[in-house]
Amino acid sequence: MKVFEILYQEIIGFLGLGGIIELVKKGDYSTLSTFDGIANFIYPLIPLLLIIEIIRAVVYKRFRIEDYKVPFLVFVLNRFLSRFISIAAVSFCIGLFGKWAIVKTSFTWYWLLYGYIVWEFAHFVYHFLAHKVRLLWCLHSTHHAPQQMNLFVNFAHFFLEAPYADVIRTSICIIMGVNPPMLFLIMFIDGFWGSFIHIGENIMKDARLGIFNKILLTPSHHRVHHARNPLYMDTNFCNLLNIWDKVFKTYQQEQRDVKIEYGITREMNPNSLWDAYFGEIICLWKDVVKAPGIKNKLLYIIMPPGWSHTGAHKTARVTRDAYMHEQQNHNSL
Ligand SMILES: [Zn+2]
Ligand SMILES: [Zn+2]
Repeated sequence: MKVFEILYQEIIGFLGLGGIIELVKKGDYSTLSTFDGIANFIYPLIPLLLIIEIIRAVVYKRFRIEDYKVPFLVFVLNRFLSRFISIAAVSFCIGLFGKWAIVKTSFTWYWLLYGYIVWEFAHFVYHFLAHKVRLLWCLHSTHHAPQQMNLFVNFAHFFLEAPYADVIRTSICIIMGVNPPMLFLIMFIDGFWGSFIHIGENIMKDARLGIFNKILLTPSHHRVHHARNPLYMDTNFCNLLNIWDKVFKTYQQEQRDVKIEYGITREMNPNSLWDAYFGEIICLWKDVVKAPGIKNKLLYIIMPPGWSHTGAHKTARVTRDAYMHEQQNHNSL
Protein backbone atom coordinates (compact mmCIF):
# COMPACT_ATOMS: atom_id res chain seq x y z
CA MET A 1 0.00 0.00 0.00
CA LYS A 2 2.94 2.27 0.72
CA VAL A 3 3.82 2.15 -3.01
CA PHE A 4 0.39 3.56 -3.95
CA GLU A 5 0.76 6.28 -1.36
CA ILE A 6 4.14 7.33 -2.77
CA LEU A 7 2.78 7.18 -6.31
CA TYR A 8 -0.24 9.29 -5.30
CA GLN A 9 2.04 11.89 -3.67
CA GLU A 10 4.28 11.97 -6.75
CA ILE A 11 1.31 12.51 -9.09
CA ILE A 12 -0.19 15.24 -6.87
CA GLY A 13 3.28 16.82 -6.64
CA PHE A 14 3.78 16.71 -10.41
CA LEU A 15 0.33 18.16 -11.08
CA GLY A 16 1.03 20.92 -8.53
CA LEU A 17 -2.24 20.22 -6.75
CA GLY A 18 -0.84 19.87 -3.20
CA GLY A 19 -1.61 23.48 -2.27
CA ILE A 20 -5.21 23.40 -3.53
CA ILE A 21 -5.95 20.08 -1.80
CA GLU A 22 -4.57 21.45 1.45
CA LEU A 23 -6.70 24.60 1.04
CA VAL A 24 -9.92 22.64 0.47
CA LYS A 25 -9.13 20.30 3.39
CA LYS A 26 -8.61 23.21 5.80
CA GLY A 27 -11.50 25.21 4.37
CA ASP A 28 -9.63 28.44 5.14
CA TYR A 29 -9.87 30.53 1.99
CA SER A 30 -8.42 33.70 3.52
CA THR A 31 -4.98 32.72 2.17
CA LEU A 32 -6.27 33.31 -1.38
CA SER A 33 -5.31 36.97 -1.14
CA THR A 34 -1.69 36.10 -0.28
CA PHE A 35 1.15 35.24 -2.65
CA ASP A 36 1.16 31.60 -1.49
CA GLY A 37 -2.59 31.35 -2.06
CA ILE A 38 -2.30 32.66 -5.61
CA ALA A 39 0.77 30.52 -6.29
CA ASN A 40 -1.27 27.42 -5.39
CA PHE A 41 -3.39 28.10 -8.46
CA ILE A 42 -0.49 28.93 -10.75
CA TYR A 43 1.50 25.73 -10.05
CA PRO A 44 -1.06 23.40 -11.73
CA LEU A 45 -1.31 25.55 -14.89
CA ILE A 46 1.65 24.05 -16.74
CA PRO A 47 0.76 20.41 -15.92
CA LEU A 48 -2.82 21.22 -17.00
CA LEU A 49 -1.60 22.66 -20.30
CA LEU A 50 0.58 19.57 -20.76
CA ILE A 51 -2.45 17.31 -20.31
CA ILE A 52 -4.49 19.42 -22.78
CA GLU A 53 -1.57 19.22 -25.21
CA ILE A 54 -1.47 15.41 -24.97
CA ILE A 55 -5.30 15.08 -25.26
CA ARG A 56 -5.33 17.31 -28.36
CA ALA A 57 -2.52 15.27 -29.89
CA VAL A 58 -4.48 12.07 -29.23
CA VAL A 59 -7.74 13.51 -30.62
CA TYR A 60 -6.03 14.76 -33.77
CA LYS A 61 -4.11 11.47 -34.06
CA ARG A 62 -0.78 13.27 -33.78
CA PHE A 63 0.23 11.64 -30.51
CA ARG A 64 3.46 9.70 -30.77
CA ILE A 65 4.79 8.09 -27.61
CA GLU A 66 8.37 8.77 -28.68
CA ASP A 67 7.71 12.55 -28.52
CA TYR A 68 7.27 12.23 -24.76
CA LYS A 69 9.28 9.14 -23.80
CA VAL A 70 12.79 10.55 -23.39
CA PRO A 71 11.75 13.87 -21.74
CA PHE A 72 9.56 11.86 -19.35
CA LEU A 73 12.32 9.42 -18.39
CA VAL A 74 14.76 12.28 -17.87
CA PHE A 75 12.17 14.00 -15.69
CA VAL A 76 11.74 10.91 -13.52
CA LEU A 77 15.49 10.57 -13.11
CA ASN A 78 15.87 14.22 -12.13
CA ARG A 79 12.96 14.20 -9.74
CA PHE A 80 15.03 12.24 -7.28
CA LEU A 81 18.49 13.66 -7.86
CA SER A 82 18.51 17.25 -9.01
CA ARG A 83 15.99 18.84 -6.69
CA PHE A 84 17.86 18.23 -3.45
CA ILE A 85 21.28 19.26 -4.76
CA SER A 86 19.74 22.44 -6.18
CA ILE A 87 18.07 23.53 -2.94
CA ALA A 88 21.34 22.97 -1.07
CA ALA A 89 23.31 24.93 -3.72
CA VAL A 90 20.97 27.96 -3.58
CA SER A 91 21.06 28.11 0.24
CA PHE A 92 24.86 27.80 0.21
CA CYS A 93 25.29 30.71 -2.26
CA ILE A 94 22.89 32.97 -0.35
CA GLY A 95 24.88 32.37 2.85
CA LEU A 96 28.23 32.81 1.13
CA PHE A 97 27.60 35.95 -0.95
CA GLY A 98 24.95 37.74 1.16
CA LYS A 99 27.56 39.85 2.97
CA TRP A 100 29.10 41.10 -0.28
CA ALA A 101 25.90 42.53 -1.78
CA ILE A 102 26.71 45.83 -3.54
CA VAL A 103 23.30 47.41 -2.78
CA LYS A 104 20.57 46.83 -0.27
CA THR A 105 17.19 46.30 -1.88
CA SER A 106 13.70 46.20 -0.42
CA PHE A 107 10.55 44.44 -1.55
CA THR A 108 9.18 47.13 -3.89
CA TRP A 109 8.08 47.07 -7.55
CA TYR A 110 11.11 49.01 -8.80
CA TRP A 111 13.57 46.73 -7.00
CA LEU A 112 11.64 43.79 -8.42
CA LEU A 113 12.17 45.19 -11.90
CA TYR A 114 15.86 45.71 -11.09
CA GLY A 115 16.04 42.17 -9.66
CA TYR A 116 14.44 40.70 -12.74
CA ILE A 117 16.84 42.44 -15.12
CA VAL A 118 19.77 41.18 -13.00
CA TRP A 119 18.26 37.68 -12.92
CA GLU A 120 17.86 37.69 -16.70
CA PHE A 121 21.49 38.71 -17.02
CA ALA A 122 22.54 35.89 -14.69
CA HIS A 123 20.38 33.48 -16.67
CA PHE A 124 21.97 34.71 -19.89
CA VAL A 125 25.46 34.07 -18.45
CA TYR A 126 24.59 30.53 -17.37
CA HIS A 127 22.78 29.69 -20.60
CA PHE A 128 25.41 31.25 -22.90
CA LEU A 129 28.18 29.29 -21.15
CA ALA A 130 26.05 26.13 -21.38
CA HIS A 131 26.22 26.47 -25.17
CA LYS A 132 29.77 27.78 -25.53
CA VAL A 133 31.83 25.61 -23.15
CA ARG A 134 31.91 22.02 -24.38
CA LEU A 135 31.88 20.44 -20.91
CA LEU A 136 28.81 22.48 -19.92
CA TRP A 137 27.19 21.66 -23.27
CA CYS A 138 27.46 17.99 -22.29
CA LEU A 139 25.07 18.78 -19.45
CA HIS A 140 22.79 21.16 -21.37
CA SER A 141 22.49 19.10 -24.58
CA THR A 142 20.03 16.72 -22.87
CA HIS A 143 17.52 19.59 -22.93
CA HIS A 144 18.15 20.14 -26.64
CA ALA A 145 18.03 16.49 -27.68
CA PRO A 146 14.23 16.16 -28.19
CA GLN A 147 13.33 16.49 -31.88
CA GLN A 148 9.97 18.11 -31.28
CA MET A 149 8.59 20.71 -28.92
CA ASN A 150 6.11 20.05 -26.15
CA LEU A 151 5.73 21.05 -22.51
CA PHE A 152 7.55 17.95 -21.32
CA VAL A 153 10.78 19.18 -22.94
CA ASN A 154 10.88 21.69 -20.10
CA PHE A 155 11.54 18.84 -17.68
CA ALA A 156 14.28 17.22 -19.74
CA HIS A 157 17.55 18.29 -18.13
CA PHE A 158 20.73 16.52 -17.08
CA PHE A 159 20.51 16.15 -13.30
CA LEU A 160 23.63 18.27 -12.64
CA GLU A 161 22.46 21.16 -14.77
CA ALA A 162 19.98 22.77 -12.37
CA PRO A 163 22.48 22.89 -9.48
CA TYR A 164 25.21 24.60 -11.51
CA ALA A 165 22.70 26.95 -13.18
CA ASP A 166 21.40 27.89 -9.75
CA VAL A 167 24.90 28.47 -8.38
CA ILE A 168 25.68 30.96 -11.18
CA ARG A 169 22.28 32.68 -11.12
CA THR A 170 21.97 32.90 -7.32
CA SER A 171 25.56 34.11 -6.83
CA ILE A 172 25.22 36.94 -9.38
CA CYS A 173 21.82 38.02 -8.03
CA ILE A 174 22.89 38.00 -4.38
CA ILE A 175 26.09 39.96 -5.13
CA MET A 176 24.00 42.48 -7.09
CA GLY A 177 21.84 42.97 -4.01
CA VAL A 178 18.71 41.01 -4.94
CA ASN A 179 17.36 39.95 -1.55
CA PRO A 180 16.38 36.29 -0.98
CA PRO A 181 12.55 36.75 -0.75
CA MET A 182 12.62 38.68 -4.04
CA LEU A 183 14.93 36.08 -5.55
CA PHE A 184 12.43 33.33 -4.70
CA LEU A 185 9.58 35.34 -6.27
CA ILE A 186 11.68 35.84 -9.40
CA MET A 187 12.56 32.13 -9.48
CA PHE A 188 8.86 31.33 -9.26
CA ILE A 189 7.97 33.63 -12.19
CA ASP A 190 10.99 32.33 -14.12
CA GLY A 191 9.95 28.71 -13.50
CA PHE A 192 6.43 29.35 -14.73
CA TRP A 193 7.46 31.27 -17.83
CA GLY A 194 10.38 28.92 -18.51
CA SER A 195 7.87 26.06 -18.66
CA PHE A 196 5.31 27.96 -20.73
CA ILE A 197 7.78 28.82 -23.51
CA HIS A 198 8.00 25.10 -24.28
CA ILE A 199 4.38 24.96 -25.38
CA GLY A 200 4.14 22.85 -28.54
CA GLU A 201 2.71 23.64 -31.97
CA ASN A 202 -0.16 21.24 -31.19
CA ILE A 203 -1.63 23.71 -28.77
CA MET A 204 -0.25 27.04 -30.03
CA LYS A 205 0.68 27.15 -33.69
CA ASP A 206 1.89 30.71 -33.93
CA ALA A 207 3.57 31.50 -30.62
CA ARG A 208 4.74 35.05 -31.28
CA LEU A 209 2.15 36.50 -28.85
CA GLY A 210 1.59 39.56 -31.05
CA ILE A 211 3.02 42.80 -29.74
CA PHE A 212 4.67 41.00 -26.78
CA ASN A 213 7.13 39.44 -29.20
CA LYS A 214 8.99 42.75 -29.07
CA ILE A 215 9.76 42.82 -25.35
CA LEU A 216 9.20 39.30 -24.05
CA LEU A 217 10.97 36.11 -24.89
CA THR A 218 8.01 34.25 -26.38
CA PRO A 219 7.57 30.53 -27.08
CA SER A 220 8.35 31.45 -30.70
CA HIS A 221 11.78 32.76 -29.67
CA HIS A 222 12.44 29.66 -27.58
CA ARG A 223 11.45 27.39 -30.48
CA VAL A 224 14.14 29.19 -32.44
CA HIS A 225 16.58 28.51 -29.59
CA HIS A 226 15.80 24.77 -29.79
CA ALA A 227 16.33 24.66 -33.56
CA ARG A 228 19.36 23.23 -35.33
CA ASN A 229 18.92 25.28 -38.52
CA PRO A 230 22.14 27.24 -39.16
CA LEU A 231 20.26 30.56 -38.94
CA TYR A 232 18.81 29.73 -35.53
CA MET A 233 21.78 28.02 -33.81
CA ASP A 234 22.92 29.55 -30.50
CA THR A 235 20.44 32.42 -30.39
CA ASN A 236 17.80 33.62 -27.86
CA PHE A 237 19.40 32.68 -24.54
CA CYS A 238 17.05 34.77 -22.36
CA ASN A 239 14.01 33.45 -20.50
CA LEU A 240 11.32 36.12 -20.00
CA LEU A 241 12.72 39.46 -21.18
CA ASN A 242 14.72 39.37 -24.38
CA ILE A 243 16.84 42.43 -23.54
CA TRP A 244 20.20 40.73 -23.04
CA ASP A 245 19.96 38.86 -26.35
CA LYS A 246 19.52 42.24 -27.99
CA VAL A 247 22.44 43.73 -26.06
CA PHE A 248 24.79 40.83 -26.84
CA LYS A 249 23.54 40.38 -30.43
CA THR A 250 22.23 36.86 -30.02
CA TYR A 251 18.64 37.83 -30.80
CA GLN A 252 16.89 35.99 -33.64
CA GLN A 253 13.24 36.15 -34.71
CA GLU A 254 11.43 33.13 -36.13
CA GLN A 255 11.39 33.51 -39.92
CA ARG A 256 8.27 32.35 -41.72
CA ASP A 257 10.33 30.89 -44.59
CA VAL A 258 12.80 28.98 -42.36
CA LYS A 259 10.91 26.08 -40.80
CA ILE A 260 12.24 25.04 -37.40
CA GLU A 261 14.03 21.70 -37.19
CA TYR A 262 14.31 20.70 -33.55
CA GLY A 263 17.22 18.87 -31.98
CA ILE A 264 21.01 18.94 -32.00
CA THR A 265 23.28 18.80 -35.04
CA ARG A 266 24.95 15.52 -34.08
CA GLU A 267 23.51 12.28 -35.48
CA MET A 268 21.69 10.68 -32.59
CA ASN A 269 19.08 8.14 -31.67
CA PRO A 270 16.13 10.39 -30.71
CA ASN A 271 14.40 7.62 -28.76
CA SER A 272 17.33 6.68 -26.58
CA LEU A 273 17.54 8.03 -23.05
CA TRP A 274 21.14 6.89 -22.94
CA ASP A 275 22.06 8.92 -26.03
CA ALA A 276 20.17 12.02 -24.85
CA TYR A 277 21.84 11.83 -21.46
CA PHE A 278 25.37 10.65 -22.16
CA GLY A 279 25.87 10.99 -25.94
CA GLU A 280 27.71 14.32 -25.79
CA ILE A 281 29.91 13.19 -22.88
CA ILE A 282 31.01 10.15 -24.89
CA CYS A 283 31.78 12.33 -27.94
CA LEU A 284 33.83 14.71 -25.80
CA TRP A 285 35.69 11.80 -24.22
CA LYS A 286 36.58 10.41 -27.69
CA ASP A 287 37.85 13.82 -28.86
CA VAL A 288 39.94 14.27 -25.72
CA VAL A 289 41.51 10.83 -26.09
CA LYS A 290 42.29 11.46 -29.78
CA ALA A 291 43.70 14.99 -29.30
CA PRO A 292 47.51 15.36 -29.43
CA GLY A 293 49.10 16.93 -26.33
CA ILE A 294 47.68 18.07 -23.02
CA LYS A 295 46.90 21.59 -24.28
CA ASN A 296 44.61 20.33 -27.05
CA LYS A 297 42.94 17.90 -24.66
CA LEU A 298 42.11 20.76 -22.29
CA LEU A 299 40.96 23.00 -25.13
CA TYR A 300 38.42 20.38 -26.22
CA ILE A 301 36.89 20.59 -22.75
CA ILE A 302 36.59 24.36 -22.53
CA MET A 303 36.19 25.51 -26.15
CA PRO A 304 32.76 25.67 -27.85
CA PRO A 305 31.23 22.46 -29.26
CA GLY A 306 32.56 21.91 -32.79
CA TRP A 307 36.02 23.32 -32.02
CA SER A 308 38.78 21.19 -33.56
CA HIS A 309 42.55 21.08 -32.91
CA THR A 310 43.03 20.77 -36.69
CA GLY A 311 41.51 24.23 -37.22
CA ALA A 312 38.56 22.78 -39.16
CA HIS A 313 36.02 24.16 -36.68
CA LYS A 314 32.34 23.35 -36.99
CA THR A 315 31.10 25.60 -34.19
CA ALA A 316 27.64 27.21 -34.25
CA ARG A 317 29.28 30.55 -35.08
CA VAL A 318 31.20 29.14 -38.07
CA THR A 319 28.06 27.37 -39.37
CA ARG A 320 25.85 30.42 -38.88
CA ASP A 321 28.37 32.83 -40.46
CA ALA A 322 28.74 30.53 -43.49
CA TYR A 323 24.97 30.42 -43.86
CA MET A 324 24.67 34.22 -43.61
CA HIS A 325 27.44 34.65 -46.16
CA GLU A 326 25.72 32.25 -48.53
CA GLN A 327 22.42 34.10 -48.13
CA GLN A 328 24.11 37.44 -48.84
CA ASN A 329 25.70 36.07 -52.00
CA HIS A 330 22.38 34.59 -53.04
CA ASN A 331 20.56 37.90 -52.49
CA SER A 332 23.15 39.95 -54.36
CA LEU A 333 22.86 37.77 -57.47
ZN1 LIG B 1 19.86 26.10 -24.55
ZN1 LIG C 1 14.14 24.94 -23.63
